[in-house]
Amino acid sequence: MIIKDIEQLIFLLGQEDNSAFQFMANELKNLYDKEPIIVPGETGYLWMPGEIPVVINAHADTEGRYFPQQEDIMIDNGIIQGQDLAADDRTGLYSILQLVRGNLRPHVIITMGEENRGAGMRAFSNAMGRIPQGDVNFVLGLDRRNFNDAVFYGDNNPSFRTMIESFGFREARGTYSDIATLSFWWNVSGVNLSMGYNDRGVISIEQLHDSIDHIFKILSNNKITSTHFKFIRRPENDAWMQKWGNRRLNELWVRTGEESS
Ligand SMILES: [Zn+2]
Repeated sequence: MIIKDIEQLIFLLGQEDNSAFQFMANELKNLYDKEPIIVPGETGYLWMPGEIPVVINAHADTEGRYFPQQEDIMIDNGIIQGQDLAADDRTGLYSILQLVRGNLRPHVIITMGEENRGAGMRAFSNAMGRIPQGDVNFVLGLDRRNFNDAVFYGDNNPSFRTMIESFGFREARGTYSDIATLSFWWNVSGVNLSMGYNDRGVISIEQLHDSIDHIFKILSNNKITSTHFKFIRRPENDAWMQKWGNRRLNELWVRTGEESS
């Protein structure tokens, strides 16, 4: 079961990047009862292998935000507002915590540098290599604005899309998030899901928790989590990959294209 913990959410919204990252490291260490792999710094990441063969991802960096004092954050009628609220991606960190506290143990990757072309995720990918660490059947990003969006980036696996849409999400387009890199790199499907905040960083408590509930249902379904969804390249995204990938990724991307044509 997923509980609403608004105090926890407000706490995360008021933390600077490094303290949010450190807080998540401590919480996950206690909940999983083991040490995560932690690489600190602006291109850093936290990798916590779990028991469910699905990766969930959020990032701990935000783009030049002012971090509000808790007393500057207003909650009115289920809506959280504040000056430059770092909804992206404190809502994702909060969601990871609530899912794990709901007794799910997926693999977790928390990155820094998402706003800098996925620098932390690229560092993680390069460090781990192309073979997934442990069983990985698909990747979920908890980083998308809006409500019920599902952004698949370079992946175009129709059965994966059908599965995700059966939980109420609808396909939308986006430029980049970390899962785009990881799903390609590990050759598994990936999707970035809405966390119920809008472009101005205003958070709907109900929409955020609806999303967490949907993700909880996906991760609790053994039949789904044990199904391997393979990355199927979307050729019209090659330009995107040239822009957002790194050199090694781009070389592989081109080679994959030759193989499939
Ligand atoms: Zn983000």
